Amino acid sequence: MQFIETLKLKSKLFFLFILIAIGLFVIGIMGIINMNAMKKNIDSLYFGSLVPVIELNEILQTYHGKLTTTLYRAKSLDLSKDNIELNIEDSLKNINKLWKSYESHFKRDEELEYLDYASMEMKSTNKYFYEILKASQNGKNFQELSMDVLESKVSHIHNILKKLIDYEIDVAKFERKMFLTKYNMIFENLGIILTFIILAIMFISHYVFKSIQNDQTQLEVATKKLKQANKKLESASYTDMLTTLYNRRYFNIVYNRELKRAKRDKKFITFMMLDIDFFKQYNDTYGHIEGDNALKTVAKTLKDTLKRPSDFVFRLGGEEFGVLLSGTDESDSAKLAQEICDAVRDSKIPHEKSSVHEFLTISVGVVCCVADDALDDNLLISNADNMLYKAKDEGRDRYVANV
Ligand code: GH3
Ligand code: MG
Ligand code: MG
Repeated sequence: MQFIETLKLKSKLFFLFILIAIGLFVIGIMGIINMNAMKKNIDSLYFGSLVPVIELNEILQTYHGKLTTTLYRAKSLDLSKDNIELNIEDSLKNINKLWKSYESHFKRDEELEYLDYASMEMKSTNKYFYEILKASQNGKNFQELSMDVLESKVSHIHNILKKLIDYEIDVAKFERKMFLTKYNMIFENLGIILTFIILAIMFISHYVFKSIQNDQTQLEVATKKLKQANKKLESASYTDMLTTLYNRRYFNIVYNRELKRAKRDKKFITFMMLDIDFFKQYNDTYGHIEGDNALKTVAKTLKDTLKRPSDFVFRLGGEEFGVLLSGTDESDSAKLAQEICDAVRDSKIPHEKSSVHEFLTISVGVVCCVADDALDDNLLISNADNMLYKAKDEGRDRYVANV
């Protein structure tokens, strides 16, 4: 059944269809063969035994009935000469016709000898009647006809025909018995073969369905993996590799989305632009790798400070960060900006070349307002940028808000 696994889904279903079609075809052929055999058997039972018995019986009846009665009536002058001759002629013609038909049916070898004997005896008996007919035609009357001879002739042929009839009945009984035994056996065999075919179809179908099920499971696993990979890819496309913060691309999406939502709900929206102070000097002093580490530390500090699910922190580029808050008023936004400045400073990253502090610091420009339809989409960003410059101008390590 291994090869089923190698087939494609379409081929598997086609294979199943072919299998069922072959099964039905075989069942059909077997049905036709058996019906044909049964037809032949019924035919041979009917023409091999029933018809011969009827024919023999009719011959017997003619000898006993029409022929004998006619001659009895002829002797007692009860019938006209013409009618007598006609009756004898008709009877003999009928007997000959029936005997010919009887002889034409299939005969077994063991029957042939007795059949020849019966045929000969019948000819001799018929000859006796033909002679009576001839004598009558030659003008002889029936007064001298011996009834004893007539009786003995008819009785003799009666015994022969009776023997044949008994034999045919015995054969019919035997054949009927054989027929029933044979058909009981055929139906038993047919039942076994049909059960076998049905079981084989069920067995192979089971494998085909199992294989289809396996394919389905594999497909589901592959789809799940693909979905996971897509998710990873999607999150990678939104993530800044160095700091693991959201990147500028995601900022554009989130910024527009959050601004729209705030405008619809007429809620506070806060945007902060953050920039590390004297970072060029930091790099120059400690090297670029240390610079990267400092960026990571600042990113982690920002994340730790802004924990609400609605708070977003982005690395907008270089040593610049963005913070987007929803539903936070001016005073809370200002407090948070201060907290961020304090937290970065408190992370104690040494910066000996900074002219504002011995540790690394940041400057923040804060813009907070209730969003409405009149609010320009870029206003928050440009204002926050201005506030940041102001913070730098005013001495760095601080925030400046637009209030
Ligand atoms: P200011 O206080 O006015 O902001 O001065 P600054 O030196 O921070 O400003 P400036 O814009 O002159 O310098 C920014 C520096 O940040 C320059 C660049 O070397 C550094 N920088 C930008 N991106 C990266 C980065 O990914 N890694 C490292 N190590 N340094 C970076
Ligand atoms: Mg800068
Ligand atoms: Mg800077």
